[in-house]
Amino acid sequence: MTDTATLAGLDPDTFGDLLRVAGSPGFDRWRDQVRRTGGCANPIHLTGWTLTKDKATGQALHHYSTEDEPGGRLRVACGNRRASRCPACAWMYAADTYHLIRAGLAGDQDKDVPATVRDHPRVFATLTAPSFGPVHNRPDSGRCRCGTHHAPDDDALGTPLDPDTYDYAAAVLFNNHAGNLWQRFTNRLRREIAARAGLTQRELKEVVRVSYGKVAEFQKRGAVHFHAVVRLDGPAGPKDPPPSWATVQLLTDSIHAAVVHSYTSITVPAAADQPARELRWGSQLDIRPIRAFEAGTDITEQGVASYVAKYATKAAETTGTIDRRVGNREVLVLLEVPDHPRRLIEACFDLDGLYPDRRLRAWAHMLGFRGHFSSKSRRYSTTLGALRQVRADYRATQQREELGLSDPDQDPTVLVLTDWQYAGQGHTPGESVLAASIARDLQLNRETAREALALEGDRS
Ligand SMILES: [Zn+2]
Ligand SMILES: [Zn+2]
Repeated sequence: MTDTATLAGLDPDTFGDLLRVAGSPGFDRWRDQVRRTGGCANPIHLTGWTLTKDKATGQALHHYSTEDEPGGRLRVACGNRRASRCPACAWMYAADTYHLIRAGLAGDQDKDVPATVRDHPRVFATLTAPSFGPVHNRPDSGRCRCGTHHAPDDDALGTPLDPDTYDYAAAVLFNNHAGNLWQRFTNRLRREIAARAGLTQRELKEVVRVSYGKVAEFQKRGAVHFHAVVRLDGPAGPKDPPPSWATVQLLTDSIHAAVVHSYTSITVPAAADQPARELRWGSQLDIRPIRAFEAGTDITEQGVASYVAKYATKAAETTGTIDRRVGNREVLVLLEVPDHPRRLIEACFDLDGLYPDRRLRAWAHMLGFRGHFSSKSRRYSTTLGALRQVRADYRATQQREELGLSDPDQDPTVLVLTDWQYAGQGHTPGESVLAASIARDLQLNRETAREALALEGDRS
């Protein structure tokens, strides 16, 4: 058995547990449960029952209890967004984000966004952080300022040339205020658009609505930046065409002006040894028109949606920080957090007492960032909640059809009683291996389906 275990890359204990699970009488049902969670790495266990009754006669139409399930439990997905915590649920989140962004670009009849949204002016904009000190990089000349040619995967990339002069405090304060800076940017953007159209803000509202969907990404240096789809609609949203003066050029010019405007900055007051700081976006600003097909510097709808989905699950882990809250400095040493992210986390600890309302300690593992990883304006497209509901409804309908039951929401003659209790979370080592393989299979199927869909879209 040890030889087979080694072949599978597993330690003998895990392999033994895997065989136990696979050989247990409830295995098929267990696999079915885990498949329904999408191969969740850390499922929540529930015990309980549900009873569907005929309201008039009191007759039990259907009874489900976890008593008959493997281990007497039902496993449901953990729903964690971070790939490092639960790849399966993170993939689901990425897929939802992809559909959300794509619906706002190409339209989606099911989701109340017509295909005519493609004719509205829209761009893909990247707003970056300013410099907090020189970092190791790969310039076009090839040679970094430290004198080396760094390989693309060099861990030194993005870390400061001189950590002693790098402004760690400014770096985490910027991350911490990034959401507020975004808010200021969108406010200013409306003013810039109104000014170019010769309208007041109030008049603008009556003819144009500015919609966006955005995602945050951490650069290697640990600074957060935003990628956003910005779109102009008529006052009623995606179904409503904007006026003819609302062009891609006007939108692009307005974004440029809004980013550099003095209103789009935030002053952090001086405190103890910290000077007052003026936080603003960096000078690197990328704005590209979005077309249905690639042309020159334009990018495609598909490209934008994939890009945004990719970043939606990454959080700050790419910078070498950790994926959960940090209790104290000792933990950083124990977990061998690399020097650069460790200093950023420590800067959060150091500044916490000076700016208590910014909750820097609580967000230290996010290098100070406290905003949402992906967010959108109200009328951009559908919501993640709506997508989850569609999926839940679909599953519920499927199950009811299997059982030959009618929809309780539609059917006033039935009564549903339920009682559920939390009974734990997670997998045994062997279950983990099996769940990961289920998750991989499901993802492969989804990717194949998505590629087929993309091909279909290109043909139409
Ligand atoms: Zn999960
Ligand atoms: Zn260097």
